[in-house]
Amino acid sequence: MEKIYCEGCGAEIQTEDKTKSGFVPQSALSNEHIICQRCFRLKHYNEVQEVEYTDDDYLRMIHQVSDTNSLVVKIVDIFDFNGSFISGLQRLTGKNPVILVGNKVDLLPKSTNHNKLIHWMKKTASDFGLTVQDVFLVSAAKGQGFEQMEAEIEARRNGKDVYVVGCTNVGKSTFINQLINRSSGVKDAITTSYFPGTTLGFIQIPLDEKSYMYDTPGVVNRTQLVHYVTDKDLKLITPKKEIKPKVYQLQDKQTLFLGGFARFDFEKGVKQSFVCYVSNLLMIHRTKLDQADTFYEKHVGDLLQPPSPETMEMLPPLVKQTMKIPYDKTDIVIPGLGWITVPEGGVTVSIHVPKGVHISLRSALI
Ligand code: GDP
Repeated sequence: MEKIYCEGCGAEIQTEDKTKSGFVPQSALSNEHIICQRCFRLKHYNEVQEVEYTDDDYLRMIHQVSDTNSLVVKIVDIFDFNGSFISGLQRLTGKNPVILVGNKVDLLPKSTNHNKLIHWMKKTASDFGLTVQDVFLVSAAKGQGFEQMEAEIEARRNGKDVYVVGCTNVGKSTFINQLINRSSGVKDAITTSYFPGTTLGFIQIPLDEKSYMYDTPGVVNRTQLVHYVTDKDLKLITPKKEIKPKVYQLQDKQTLFLGGFARFDFEKGVKQSFVCYVSNLLMIHRTKLDQADTFYEKHVGDLLQPPSPETMEMLPPLVKQTMKIPYDKTDIVIPGLGWITVPEGGVTVSIHVPKGVHISLRSALI
């Protein structure tokens, strides 16, 4: 049988074992668009599986890296660091040294403190149990930061092979394309797309006579927001151009809606200007906190859009998390969307995000 891959997660389609990834009933094979049963459930019944990662086959493939003597280049999306981080990577890649690359730096406002971001990435990686040799910020789309990174990779690999790993949608294909383009002048050697799970199989790129760079399959991380939105909505929430910060002066008991994807309640604290760093296309609405529930119920899917009605069918419900922000200049990071800067600490806020999305705090980048 010709190999078919799930359009949702990229797993190889099979009809034998229900418990393994890529399963579909025989009858579904005749469908024009084939998605595995797991993605189907996710899409239609909103059954979110709270697992670290799902696609065992992918992980098994990446695990092969631990048997090699190589350099690992791990790519993350700086707008979705937590969502695009493969936890347990150290176990998968063995003793090989890891270089961490934060992609999509072109989207950050010019005033971003890159060193602070690098420091935060290093620390967060270490909190996840991954020791990294170095961190680079690049734009795979624009080639920004490549010269320095390439020189470092070349120095560190010391003649060894290089394995490029990352979750789906972090820009791994774009990254490899950029490298190929820079070394050979060939454009778009590998297909890129908005949709996660499009890079399949190991792609081998010669580095010199003896060594190769391998593009590994993108690991699907179910906590990534990208798995719960339509491609149209993904285009709206994914920043496309340099982010223009939006400032909102709020008193306590006021609420901001980031489209209908996230909600920020200013519960308690002094009046101040919060700064939202999200896609320029994502509409932000301000309401009174005591009216926010009703406002959301009434307007999600229309005024509070995205999510579109189609996305709403697969988006997990918003879950509230209340927290005290002790320090001045703190970023509340919402993986997949962006972040909100709280200028003055000593405040209490509640954040509502789709179930499964993990928010975090860091010292403000700007
Ligand atoms: P993959 O699934 O990891 O292989 O990701 P792709 O290379 O297909 O990229 C996913 C999305 O991110 C696409 O919409 C790309 O255009 C976008 N993208 C990739 N690299 C960059 C970048 O450096 N900057 C920006 N702004 N977008 C990027």
